Amino acid sequence: MQGLMMDRQLLISSLIEHGAKVYHDREIVSRTVEGPIHRYTFADLHGRSKQVAGALTALGIKAADRIATLAWNGYRHVELYFGVSGMEAVCHTLNPRLHPSQLIYILNHAEDRLLFTDLTFLPLVEAIAGQLKTVEGIVVMTDADHMPESKLSNLLCYEDLLSEQDDDFVWPDFDENTAASLCYTSGTTGNPKGVLFSHRSSVLHAFCVSLPAVLALSESETFLPVVPMFHVNAWGTPYAIPMTGTKLVMPGPALDGASLTELMNAEGVTSTAGVPTVWSGLLNYWREHDTSVPTLKITIIGGSAVPRSMVEAFDKEFGIEVRQGWGMTEMSPIGSINILKPEQRVAPDTERYDIQVRQGRAVYGVEMKIVDAEGKTLPCDGKAFGELKVRGPWVSRAYYCGEEDEVLDSEGWFPTGDVATIDADGYMHITDRIKDLIKSGGEWISSIELENLAMSHPDVMQAAVIGIPDEKWAERPLLIVKLKAEAAPSKEDLLGFFKGKVADWSIPDDVVMVEELPIGGTGKVQKTELRKMYA
Ligand code: ADP
Repeated sequence: MQGLMMDRQLLISSLIEHGAKVYHDREIVSRTVEGPIHRYTFADLHGRSKQVAGALTALGIKAADRIATLAWNGYRHVELYFGVSGMEAVCHTLNPRLHPSQLIYILNHAEDRLLFTDLTFLPLVEAIAGQLKTVEGIVVMTDADHMPESKLSNLLCYEDLLSEQDDDFVWPDFDENTAASLCYTSGTTGNPKGVLFSHRSSVLHAFCVSLPAVLALSESETFLPVVPMFHVNAWGTPYAIPMTGTKLVMPGPALDGASLTELMNAEGVTSTAGVPTVWSGLLNYWREHDTSVPTLKITIIGGSAVPRSMVEAFDKEFGIEVRQGWGMTEMSPIGSINILKPEQRVAPDTERYDIQVRQGRAVYGVEMKIVDAEGKTLPCDGKAFGELKVRGPWVSRAYYCGEEDEVLDSEGWFPTGDVATIDADGYMHITDRIKDLIKSGGEWISSIELENLAMSHPDVMQAAVIGIPDEKWAERPLLIVKLKAEAAPSKEDLLGFFKGKVADWSIPDDVVMVEELPIGGTGKVQKTELRKMYA
């Protein structure tokens, strides 16, 4: 027997329509590329998203056409999220930190028809434009006064396009499984792969993001995503904002400690999200300038493992709760979140931090299991470790125009490429990515565990551990560190720090001190680069 509920489709346009009706005067505040702070309401955002949809229609854009963006976190980018997907086209966010050759590959593979760019990235666009096979026009996201001189002939002005449109565009109704947005993985192995999110998956994921156990979004909160809108849709947060009436603050291109701190304080930001590298910079800035953001309560940190020292610093020095998140582009991205149980919240600090360095428990919607090399499910005892597999309504089943057809295993699970344990309470703990695990003399060494320890050394700012070939042991761990300003520890001091904290055979044989670690497009240390450098 079927239920007798209405078959209303879960569409992205319904999010902004709801936001504009119910929370019409909530604000979106953006630091612009042009300089000044811009502010307007959800009602304004809705109207202008409709103008975007009207402008696209006037340019001949049809359902399923791909529209690329090369932009910071700002209000015009949010208008594109709703305007492009709302009219049934596909919003394709590009990561400007990728190598130009990768951007060319991605734009041609996705067959984007239009490219919207912030002023910042126009030189990049000019450099690659000649090699783009399908892009018909380039829209600069600014007004007529700021339109730059350019050698490109197919340049359009965003504000001019919008000014020709009324805000009476009617959002079309269509199947919720229709594609809404596209984001390519960073392609650390082989070509980048296109992850194609649907309206349904985006709306369900937005419910998840809003939950008390995730970002606890509501009208009483003010959220600033440091995670870029080109990194898995800023972890889906722009969709959750109008759903919940949360005030949104957008940092634009100014991601340094001073600018972020100033904006967060000016707008009373209560929660934020980003990768660990961003927060280690911000923590240092706060310490050096004896400042902080007193209104900030929660920070979601994910994308790579959160060092214990970071959890401790946020908690002890600044009273801010770290919620570690884990996920992947292929998972929209949220898979698990680490929020302490009520009884754990009152536990001694060290016990709490032991729990908080784990990647957390699965969110509703995502199922997780770990398997051995034969694919047999392993016990959730906190000890057995194996590849993590997931499934759920916002997990990919295939890549956009993907060459490999079998993405899922024979039982329909997505193999994450991460190695993890899961304990009896459901806390998942990532040991490593399969490709980063170090096998030494038949034993596995977790690079994440060693990095975590190294980063708790008072002189260490960032650390990476890679396996380097060794005749006797097959591989041995090498520690590579970026030190804090003016710190000058000896090699013996750094390596001796591991003594007694991990098994002797897993202590790195050597340490290299570097000015900078290679950081990839999504703010993670690029171990493939390090392996090449120290092979
Ligand atoms: P890419 O796979 O190209 O690096 P993603 O941003 O999708 O791009 O990265 C997903 C991967 O990032 C995960 O499979 C995992 O290895 C890593 N990751 C994400 N969050 C965490 C976390 N909290 N702790 C450890 N690793 C993480």
